[in-house]
Amino acid sequence: MIVTRFAPSPTGYLHIGGLRTALFSYLWAKKNGGKFILRIEDTDVSRNNEEAALAIVKAFEWVGLKHDGEITYQSGRMDIYKKYIDQLLKEGKAYKCYMSKVELDTLRETQMANKERTRYNGKYRDFTGTPPEGVEPVIRIKSPETGTIVINDGIKGEVVFQAEDILDDFVIARFDMSPTYNFVVAIDDALMGITDVVRGDDHLMNTPKQMVVYEALGFDLPKFFHVPMIHNSNGKKLSKRDGATDVMMYKEMGYTPEALMNFLVRLGWSHGDQEIFSMEEMLELFSPSDINKSASIYNPEKLDWLNAHYLKNMTNAELALALEPYDIILTSHDKKEILLDAVKERGKTLKDMAELIKEILASPSEYDEKGMKKGFKGNADEVLKSFAENLNLAKELHLPSDYHHIMEETITKMEVGFGKIGQPLRMALLGKMSGPGLDEVMAIIGKDETLNRIEAILEKLPSK
Ligand code: GLU
Repeated sequence: MIVTRFAPSPTGYLHIGGLRTALFSYLWAKKNGGKFILRIEDTDVSRNNEEAALAIVKAFEWVGLKHDGEITYQSGRMDIYKKYIDQLLKEGKAYKCYMSKVELDTLRETQMANKERTRYNGKYRDFTGTPPEGVEPVIRIKSPETGTIVINDGIKGEVVFQAEDILDDFVIARFDMSPTYNFVVAIDDALMGITDVVRGDDHLMNTPKQMVVYEALGFDLPKFFHVPMIHNSNGKKLSKRDGATDVMMYKEMGYTPEALMNFLVRLGWSHGDQEIFSMEEMLELFSPSDINKSASIYNPEKLDWLNAHYLKNMTNAELALALEPYDIILTSHDKKEILLDAVKERGKTLKDMAELIKEILASPSEYDEKGMKKGFKGNADEVLKSFAENLNLAKELHLPSDYHHIMEETITKMEVGFGKIGQPLRMALLGKMSGPGLDEVMAIIGKDETLNRIEAILEKLPSK
């Protein structure tokens, strides 16, 4: 069985790049009938870690990811790590190092001055003498000093490191005996039965160290998949300046979880030319071996395009439900079908649509100045008045076409072109020159409200 994990540090929110890693891990496990585990890497962080985990779970819920089993907190596993530190010490695979901070600093400075890689020099590796007084030791693991370390990476292929370029006897427990990052990750992945480690390639340099721990403890190595980073359009690592990094911000901005997941799966992975992937298709088609070897580019226009696609393809009932978190409650609105049809193709995001709906339903609070000048040239006010009279007399107004009919009647009677009614009416109804079809707006707000809005704008016009 394939078991993958997502192992975030508790930052208090789910990072968009993290969600992509989680998605890849999730898809790979689930398409194989496996398990996807959530582990919070909180040994170094003193925060409210449960709250941080909840933020991740909340974001997972929004996008439809679910982890299997309980959440594991590294902070709750200190006894386990301690046991393995003791074991390695006993077996002579790790040792106490009494180098003082001053000594370490001097070593580093000398190496830097000699343009050498800074590394521990193995001073206490085979030490049998009396330890210096007053120095609390750290625990270091014996690492190979020569030879090659080969990662058979599922994305990058064979990655070869020379031990002397990358390893030294690194610290696995600090002066206070708290275990270090690479040590606990390797132990957890092994004990939790993780078969496939899918993570960002910013961790590639950690992998040789983790492999040293696997080797020392006699654990079987998992498969590694190091996913290239997401870059901005300047080829730099994605940062806050490139847009939202917190997944829940995307919800706030009005993106649908389907669009976001579709966007993320395509950041670095592809299947022919296909752009649109439902979760079912992702599960069917995804394989980490098809992930690109180079970084992917974050392109917000692509996300907008996908979001518009998903919005357009929603049923009105789905759309109404999706709009509820944006303060749009349409359950009892008798023209909600016309309203939803009118806005469906117009907004890139749910938030845009919610704004548009609010604009339609509330009479304009202000009128665009340019629009007023343009809309009320010549006898436009007369045309608008005439339209209001015709509308007032009309009965049985339900559909946009019923209102359209009255607009036509008016321009025929007044012998003017369509713009002469369209422009002033648009200003009356919406206060600006853009927006959805006027006949739709009128059918949504109804005859009385249409007349009210016309009256309100006519009152504002300077008398001739
Ligand atoms: N905790 C690490 C991070 O948040 C992930 C470690 C891993 O996936 O191995 O970047």
